[in-house]
Amino acid sequence: MTDRAALGGIVLHDLVKSYADGDRPALDLPELTIPPGSFTVVVGPSGCGKSTALRLIAGLETPDAGHIAIDGADVTDLPPGRRDLSMVFQDFALYPHMTVAENVGFGLRIQARHDRRRGLTARITRTGRADAPAAASRAEIAESVRRACALVRLDGKEHRRPSQLSGGERQRVALARALVRGPSVLLLDEPLSALDAQLRHHARAELVRLHREFGCTAVLVTHDQLEALSMATHLVVLDGGRLSQAGSPQEVYSRPANTFVAGFLGSPAMNLQPVETIAEGSATTAGVGLRAPGLQARLAGPAEPLPAGPVSLGWRPADGVPEAAPAGGFGSAAGALTGT
Ligand code: ADP
Repeated sequence: MTDRAALGGIVLHDLVKSYADGDRPALDLPELTIPPGSFTVVVGPSGCGKSTALRLIAGLETPDAGHIAIDGADVTDLPPGRRDLSMVFQDFALYPHMTVAENVGFGLRIQARHDRRRGLTARITRTGRADAPAAASRAEIAESVRRACALVRLDGKEHRRPSQLSGGERQRVALARALVRGPSVLLLDEPLSALDAQLRHHARAELVRLHREFGCTAVLVTHDQLEALSMATHLVVLDGGRLSQAGSPQEVYSRPANTFVAGFLGSPAMNLQPVETIAEGSATTAGVGLRAPGLQARLAGPAEPLPAGPVSLGWRPADGVPEAAPAGGFGSAAGALTGT
């Protein structure tokens, strides 16, 4: 494990996971750090290993190799219940026969029962174990449930069953159930995909607000790049089970590490144009000239040295400033669109 594990957050180190019928690992991450307190969004096309990554962090899958640390502690061999995290699933997984309050408090009630048993065992065996935790009382559980419901604005609906709630409200019950235990890590597996477009928009803002209030490390998985860019404080882009890029959304959006990231993020996607570099001036001061049929462009310096030969020029619609249109109009072979 690297020293970075001691810094907190989540550190994945040399993590590999393969499934029996796969021809390559579903996930192969030499090193990935999820900053503490961040709202990290893991994004990528379907099948790129997002859910596998989340399930490995949660302890629902066992890695073939590698380590996982949460807030400095190696949790690779710990069961899910001892990792101090909560997970919200895509389908919310609520118990239909329980009320909102019963759903939210379910984990706390199970934990209290478990703690009571451990306390009882400790007394019976006269070990005098001081570490047997005091089980939460009914009143304490009820108070925690009330606070969690208020946090997600479900107060007044605690006695309803899931069938009596809208999709957005069901999603908030799942969130309250995850937050009620005060986890240091919150894992969210496409939690908004079951909501309609308008609700999803609202739910994104709610999730960001909750995360700010709650202050835990949140990891959300989505295939929706708009969701990723609008919610993340830290963005992780996966492709084919491998890390394509990680960084702030602004960084990843404006300086994609490769053409996959450039094409995947942003709507419309980044324009990618094969061009030739023009050797003129110094690459570090005067910028770099680029040429292609119908196009002449200059990248303002300082620029990184470009490889010799053909390169891809990528620009977003808002990036380029056309200085002159081609003589015969756009798209004509007569002249070139020039710009910076
Ligand atoms: P994503 O969440 O990005 O859509 P997953 O992590 O679910 O991707 O899956 C990554 C790859 O692993 C896919 O090729 C998928 O088919 C495969 N996979 C996921 N879970 C299993 C499983 N339980 N058994 C076999 N293959 C699986």
